[in-house]
Parts: sequence; structure tokens; C-alpha cells
Amino acid sequence: MNTAVFDRRESEVQSYARNFPVLFHKARGAWLYDEAGQGYLDFLAGAGTLNYGHNHPELKAKLLAYLDDDAIVHGLDLYTVAKRHFLETFERLILSPRGMDHVVQFTGPTGTNAVEAALKIARNVKGRSNVLCFTNGFHGVSLGSLAVTGNSHHRDAAGVALNGATVMPYDGYLGADVDTIALIDKQISDSSSGLDLPAAVIVETVQGEGGINAASSEWLRRLEALCRKHDMLLIVDDIQAGCGRTGTFFSFEEAGIKPDIVTLSKSLSGYGLPFSVVLIKPELDRWKPGEHNGTFRGHNPAFVTAAAALELFWSDDRFATEIADKAERIRSAFAGIIARHPDAGLSQCGRGMMQGLECPDGELAGEITREAFAQRLIIETSGADDQVIKTLCPLTISHDDLQRGLDIVSDAVSTVLARRNKKRAVA
Ligand SMILES: *Cc1c(COP(=O)(O)O)cnc(C)c1O
Repeated sequence: MNTAVFDRRESEVQSYARNFPVLFHKARGAWLYDEAGQGYLDFLAGAGTLNYGHNHPELKAKLLAYLDDDAIVHGLDLYTVAKRHFLETFERLILSPRGMDHVVQFTGPTGTNAVEAALKIARNVKGRSNVLCFTNGFHGVSLGSLAVTGNSHHRDAAGVALNGATVMPYDGYLGADVDTIALIDKQISDSSSGLDLPAAVIVETVQGEGGINAASSEWLRRLEALCRKHDMLLIVDDIQAGCGRTGTFFSFEEAGIKPDIVTLSKSLSGYGLPFSVVLIKPELDRWKPGEHNGTFRGHNPAFVTAAAALELFWSDDRFATEIADKAERIRSAFAGIIARHPDAGLSQCGRGMMQGLECPDGELAGEITREAFAQRLIIETSGADDQVIKTLCPLTISHDDLQRGLDIVSDAVSTVLARRNKKRAVA
């Protein structure tokens, strides 16, 4: 495997290849293939960017036909046929059926740019700078998004003070007995708490990078009520948990809440093409033309695959049923692993097909994912100490491949724990 140029020329900032040092070349569905054609089962799927798998044949056909037609690839934010088709499809299949009257802002193609836009519009509309965010939250690495992100590894790289945010305890952060909404309410209500009245609250319903912590529906409803009570906007960052990952198109549907602002990215294009949007309640859409811009606002090939993915997967509720079935298979596989190793301190977390197997520490989780990789399963860790093994496999994965991956995880857990016990016995 010739990877010399990466050592020679790629910046040290590179990260994923350190855990998966393989030269990848091709991919299809839930499988990645290296240069020699060896397959690897992909339970990372672009950190939730490939909910419909790699190179979905029907989406690819639409994309190739579009390119072959010399249709617009780059069009700034001009009207194009592809953009019209995406907006009409998104309105018909996603927004209207859910009673959402939000307008769509096309931002630069990264998730963090959508978060920046969401924070800007919320602050400008409310005329306040403070935003509430949560422990273990992750919203991207540009400065505004970083200010509402918990992880010190990322925050410490900023090089400047990160302002305009106050961190609050997420659901369950202080233990099952502490009502964190009551705590936040108290701090906002108390004129001497030292907390500046926030413009908005930004939240992930399931914390993707922060450890697959899932907020309860009840907590999310009370958070929404808190926002209404104190005139704060509710921003749901659905960049990772959205597009079906938790079982419904938006991750907040189960809770029945109505966020003022929603960010979407990662799986939105359906094909791994960069594409991000902010959904904004129409009365909050006070942008002046071009106030938040970007050269790559709305990538036309991404509109094509995004619209095709919506048609293919979200025209009826079959896909949601399929996700619920697979989510249950993951849940019961993890429950089985925990039951087989009652003394290992394992637990499970997450919701839908965004689930985690939590280990007592990051060292054990890392050993398990390395063992899984030796069996050609690509699976990553998440959380403050990288202590959670997270499943982000394509939602379209076959039952056989899903089972295969879960079996590898189970096997890796057994192998690593047995190895540790043996070492302990020798010592
Ligand atoms: C990945 C992610 C982002 C940032 O998206 P980028 O495209 O990496 O900038 C923001 N919020 C959440 C919840 C994410 O998972």
C-alpha cells in the first residue's frame, strides 16, 4: 500500500485515516473497498453523511444524466431547474406534510456554515448575543459554531476567546434525578443569576459527536416550552440526527416539537455531496439579500440527488418502518452483548439507528473498535473520552450486513475482554 505522499504532504490535522489506515478506492451500499478490492463493512458512513449508502444506483443514474445533459453545476444562488425541483420536492414530501411553513436558506455547503447562519439570524432577530448550548454538544469548528460546542479538544484550537454562549447541562448530564430544565428555568428567571437573557437555545436531540446521548421527548417538549416562556428561539441542529437517522425525517418529530430554526446537512444530498440548509420560520426570515452569502450556496448536483433521495425514500412510510425494524435489531444486539458481559460495565444509549455501546472508558472502546477493524468493520467512537462505540451504518443496509457488523462488534467485545482477563490472570 503506497501512502507515502500522505506522510510527506498531508497536514497533521488529518484524523480518520489514523484509525483506518487503508487506501480506499471504491464503495457501494454499506461496503468500502481498498485499492486491491478487499471489502470493509462501513458502520461509520461518513459520520452520518451516507444514510442511503455509498453510490446508490438510482441516485447515481439521476446524477449522471444531469451531468451528461450539460445542466448547471455551479450557479451561485441563481434560480435553476434543479433548485426548483429540489424545493418543490422538499416542500411536498417533507415540509407540507409536517405542517412546517419554514423558508429554506441555502448556505455554504458545510454543516458549520448552516449553524453560523442559524446563530446569526437568531441573534439579529432577538437583538441579543447570548445563546444557550449544552454539555457534550457539537456544532462544527468555525468560531461561532465552536463557541456553542463542548469539546475542549476542538475549542482549544480556536486561538481566540469563544463568546456569546452559555453552556447548560443536557438531559441526564447531572444524573437521572436532576431536572436540568428546571435548573435552566431558575437561572433565566432569576435576575441576579448572572445569565444574560439568551436569543436562542441550540440543541441536538441526539448528540452525535458528544456520546450518542439522546434527550427524552419529555425533556425536548419542556425545552420548547422554556423557549416560549422566555422569548428564546429554539434551534435544532439536525445535521447528524436528521434525514432519517433516528427513524423519522427530522429527529424531533417523535417529541412533537416545532423548532423555529433547523439546520440540515450531512445526509441531505443523499449521495455524500456537500449540501446544507437552514430552515427558518417565515416571520424570522429578516435577512437582507446577500447578508449571509457564500460562493457554493446550493450545489446543483446535490439538489438533483437530494430530490431523488426524497422521492425514493420519503414518499411513504415504508422507509421509516424499515429503520424502526433495524433500530430494534441493533438495540437487541447491544442488549445481548451487555447481558453476556455483566461485569464489564457496558451500557447502551441512543435512538433509532443512532445507537451507542458505552464502555467504562475510552481505552476499552478503542481496543474494541481496533479489534473490529481487524475483522474489517469500520466503526468509530464518540463522547468526551471516546468511550462510546457508535453505529452509524447506512439506513439502507441489508439485514445480513447489519447482522454481520453487529456480530463483529459482539465478537470484538468478547475477544478484547477475554484478552484483558487473561492479562490480569497472568499479572
Ligand atoms: C457534523 C456536524 C456539524 C458540522 O458539520 P460540518 O459539515 O462538519 O461543518 C454540526 N452539527 C452537528 C450536529 C454535526 O454532527
